[in-house]
This record gives sequence, structure tokens and C-alpha cells, in this order.
Amino acid sequence: MAWMGTPMSWGYHTVQEVCVARPCVVQKYGGSSVADVARIRGVAERIVQTRREGKDVVVVVSAMGNTTNELLALAAEISPNPGRRELDLLISVGERVSMTLLAMAIQELGEPAQSFTGSQSGIITDTQHVAATVVEVRPHRIRRALDEGQIAIVAGFQGVSQTGEVTTLGRGGSDTTAVVLTAALEAEYCEICSDVDGVYTADPRVVSEALRLDDVPLDAVMSMARSGSKVLLVDALEQAAKHGVTLSAGATSKASGSGTRIVPGPTPDAVVGVAADSGLWLLPSGAEPSGFRGAIRAQLADGRIVVDGRNLPDPSTWGVSAAPVATVSAVGRSVVSDPDVSKRAMNAVKSVCSDATCWAVGDTWTVMVERQMATEVERVVHAALC
Ligand code: ASP
Ligand code: MG
Repeated sequence: MAWMGTPMSWGYHTVQEVCVARPCVVQKYGGSSVADVARIRGVAERIVQTRREGKDVVVVVSAMGNTTNELLALAAEISPNPGRRELDLLISVGERVSMTLLAMAIQELGEPAQSFTGSQSGIITDTQHVAATVVEVRPHRIRRALDEGQIAIVAGFQGVSQTGEVTTLGRGGSDTTAVVLTAALEAEYCEICSDVDGVYTADPRVVSEALRLDDVPLDAVMSMARSGSKVLLVDALEQAAKHGVTLSAGATSKASGSGTRIVPGPTPDAVVGVAADSGLWLLPSGAEPSGFRGAIRAQLADGRIVVDGRNLPDPSTWGVSAAPVATVSAVGRSVVSDPDVSKRAMNAVKSVCSDATCWAVGDTWTVMVERQMATEVERVVHAALC
């Protein structure tokens, strides 16, 4: 055997300690998973179980149940137009409540746990209050806690701006917190735990034949999310793609690792699934698009514009006549590249609708229909393609 490196002197040698890092996972629990004390205890048990399997565990938690909405409603009672700095400080409280209670519940089970705010976790954002973007993650304190054998509980959805202000990442932003922390900690994967047990080929509440997927490439889930599927936040999926993070989306009530595995990679040829978006409005050609910046979903060849109404003021204030519409999209490269597949989809739509406009971009084929037809069209397109 050859000695490498520094030659050793007789009678004295330094032993270099080899640290084998424990595998680390990030688990994110949504608001309904921690809606009351009983559920917080259940989540604590699930976390402790993962920990006792020999893993380092970092937990990202949302606010309990409806807390964020309740805090926003209180603000709205005080002011029709509350300042965004104050709003961020207010709504960041929700996650402070859940993170501390969860840490206490874990301690009660005999495992050491510490909770951290977004700022303490090193989630650095830009200065856009209420819709901040993560610019850097410096999780020194989380690392130190893990090294000390702690389970680290992190408040989701919040960060600190470069100017030291508390910021939030936009509604549902805890998914994003979990993904960026997974990347920064180089954790094995990020488990998104909620009340749905995975990614389906369509919304199972609408399409009873929808199938749960065991494995699905990240790009396909991203296109499904952009097309209106609610399983995971688009922003979080984009961060996962940027950093090559593997996700697992599963039910809090089921065993860790039993959810859909979402692995970084391109959308396949085969149709992966169907998604509907029924919060859209069709504006006539000639409408001034500048007032809708950020909300435009499609610009049709004839000049009409499809906008997402969810983050806009009431349509009655837009100054144009907007028609409520929905889109149904199919994700898979063949539905865009193979005319036979898109014809099958269009024929299915025609069997239930007389008027529909369709287009295709990248890996996604989309048809726009009257809003009340959305569920019917989702069903027939799913039946034709999946
Ligand atoms: N509590 C925040 C919200 O309700 C963030 C989250 O749940 O991810 O939007
Ligand atoms: Mg929530």
C-alpha cells in the first residue's frame, strides 16, 4: 500500500478524519397538512420517522390552514390599499406560527429541532414586496443545525431583501423555498407533501379516469403547471429545472417516497397529461396590451389576446369587453409535432363544442373554449389522448 500525500514520520502521525455526510432530504408541508394541532403532531411523527431512517431532514412549512387568507382579510378591513412592506411583515407571521409549533411537536417526540425564519435561513430576495424573487441562498445556520444533529424547520414563503426587509415570495411560495433550499444544501431530493398523492394525467376531481403517474419528467410537469394544473407552483418548478432538483410530490398521509417522482428532463413524445385553466379572459383585437403586462397568456393571429384574470383588478374596470374563456391543454411532444395526434384532440373537442380556437407551442397543444365547457372538454381530450 502506498501512502499518498505527506510522508509520515515514525511515531507520530495525523489521522485525517473522513466525514461521510448523511443523506439529506427536504420535506415541504402545505397549509392543510398543518391545519390544526393534531395534524401538526402527525407531521412531526412523519418527520421523526424519516430522521430515524438515518437522514438529515430539513422541513419547509406553510402557514396553518387558511391563516394567510385570514391575515390578508384583516389587513383589508383596516385599509383598502395596505402598504406592501407592512403586508409582508404581517403575512410572514403565518409561517412563524407553524414552524415553531412543529419544532415543539418534534421536541416532544424526543428529537432535537430548531425553527428558522426565512431571514435566519439565508433566503435572500430582491426588494419586490409581496412578489419577491430569491436571488441567493446562504443556509449557514441550517447547515450548522444539521451538523449539531438538529432537525431544521424553515418558514416557507418568506425571505429577507438585500436591504434587510422581510419579503414574501407570492402565494404558494413555500414550494419555491423548499426547492431553492434543496439546491443550496445539495440535498438528495425535495419532497412536496400535501393532500394530493401525486401528479395525475388530469385533475382527478374532474376526470375520474385520470391516472396517477409514478415518474414524470420535470419539463412536462412545468408545462402542465403553466397550463393551469394546480399540483405544483410554476415558480418552484422553474427553480427545480434551473438547479436540477429532483422532486417527489405525495400525500402527507402516505409514506415518504410513495409520491410521484419528478426528475429533471425533457417532455417525452407521448402525451403525459391534460390540464385546464378556467381563470382566463379573451380581449377583442385592438385592446391595449400594455395594461395587462405579465397577465398575457396568448396573442392570437387575429389580434385577440388571452389574459389571466387572477392577479388583475375586476374585469369591469378594464375598459374593454372581455369574454370569460378557458383553455384545455395537452402536454407531450407528439401532440404538437404529429398532425394525427392533434387531429384526434381537435375531433374530440368538436364532438362537444361548435366553436374552439387552438394553437401549439413547444410541447403543449392548447384549445380555447367558452368557460362553461372547460370540464367537458378536459374529459374528452383526456379520453382521446391519454
Ligand atoms: N402561506 C402562503 C400562502 O398561503 C404560502 C404557501 O402556502 O406556500 O400562499
Ligand atoms: Mg398556503
